[in-house]
Amino acid sequence: MFPRTGLKIARLLGIDIIINPTWLFIFALVGVSMGESYRMVFEGITLIDGNRFPQGPWSWVAGFLTAAVFFACLLAHELSHSLVARRNGIGINRITLFIFGGVAEMSKDVDSPGVEFKMAVAGPLVTFALAGSFMVLYLLAYSLDAGPVVIAPLFYLTSFNLFVGLFNILPGFPLDGGRILRAAIWKATGDLKKATRIASIGGQAVAVLVVGGGVYFMIAESPLSGIWLLVIGLFIFQLSRSAYRQTLLKLATADVSVGDIMLTGVPAVDASTSLTDLVNHYFSAYDLPVLPVTSAGAPVGVVAREDLARIDRSEWDLLNAGRVARPLSDETVVSPGTRLDEVLKTMLSRLEYLLVIEDGELRGILTRGQLTRYIDSRIKG
Ligand SMILES: [Zn+2]
Repeated sequence: MFPRTGLKIARLLGIDIIINPTWLFIFALVGVSMGESYRMVFEGITLIDGNRFPQGPWSWVAGFLTAAVFFACLLAHELSHSLVARRNGIGINRITLFIFGGVAEMSKDVDSPGVEFKMAVAGPLVTFALAGSFMVLYLLAYSLDAGPVVIAPLFYLTSFNLFVGLFNILPGFPLDGGRILRAAIWKATGDLKKATRIASIGGQAVAVLVVGGGVYFMIAESPLSGIWLLVIGLFIFQLSRSAYRQTLLKLATADVSVGDIMLTGVPAVDASTSLTDLVNHYFSAYDLPVLPVTSAGAPVGVVAREDLARIDRSEWDLLNAGRVARPLSDETVVSPGTRLDEVLKTMLSRLEYLLVIEDGELRGILTRGQLTRYIDSRIKG
């Protein structure tokens, strides 16, 4: 769901800061809207007081400078999550800024409600502290009559951080408020599945509200901010659903190794076996998409049912299993002790099968169908 790629712009506190191309769009949007706001501020003042205030291009420069400070504030928010994570033994490799904000890539999942709470609360705390600081500066500038060039940006920076802080504490997963809610229910009930379900429902409710707000803005106020809110609402909806699914998956595969669920007793096909024998004696007897091929007892590859279908029947007697076998690769060979969650992602997205080999000997096979049946039964059970 989250982008990982982009241009590395900095390394802060040992964390790579990456800018995803979609971020440029939101940066431009904020810069232009701010420039437009400043233009109106400055021109309004100009009517009263000659040339005292910057005009024309300066409002755009000021707009983009303010946008840069906005995103620096967002980055500080993300960094605070990351620093708390790191203090609790969760490594953070990179923070990516993209169209909907920032996301930190964690080396592993949070495993206690206490850590989840501390991590989630850090971001809004920093954002509200920034809002408070800008507000103090704003009030100071206002009382000193510092003029709109100083007062206007401080006003916008205060409002921006207040908005980001309030938005993030909405009680819907995956927003920070939803994580706080999940941590609280998790702590109270000890049931991560239930906590995630409730926080995800919160996330979907928040998403519906944001989409509603987006539609309202689109019609009544500013179409661009309206569309952005609408899209962000849909994104939150999707995220909260997939977060629940992710948690179920995680719980279903925790502490399970490939050896626990692999299929054993699968016949190894000798490389010299003709394709006719392969079809008549092996594939007809075993309902599997692939079968392991061995040569002198050692596993050398797999034959896939779908590969045979592409070979003309007249050649079946001429070819043997060794000729048509797919070679083994680091990705398709695992040991029985390999943890299921390590191979989960590749198996659900790309790999059809894994060969389980130990000490050069075939122990079993794990197919995607088997894996999904196992997960389904665990999730339902
Ligand atoms: Zn946050």
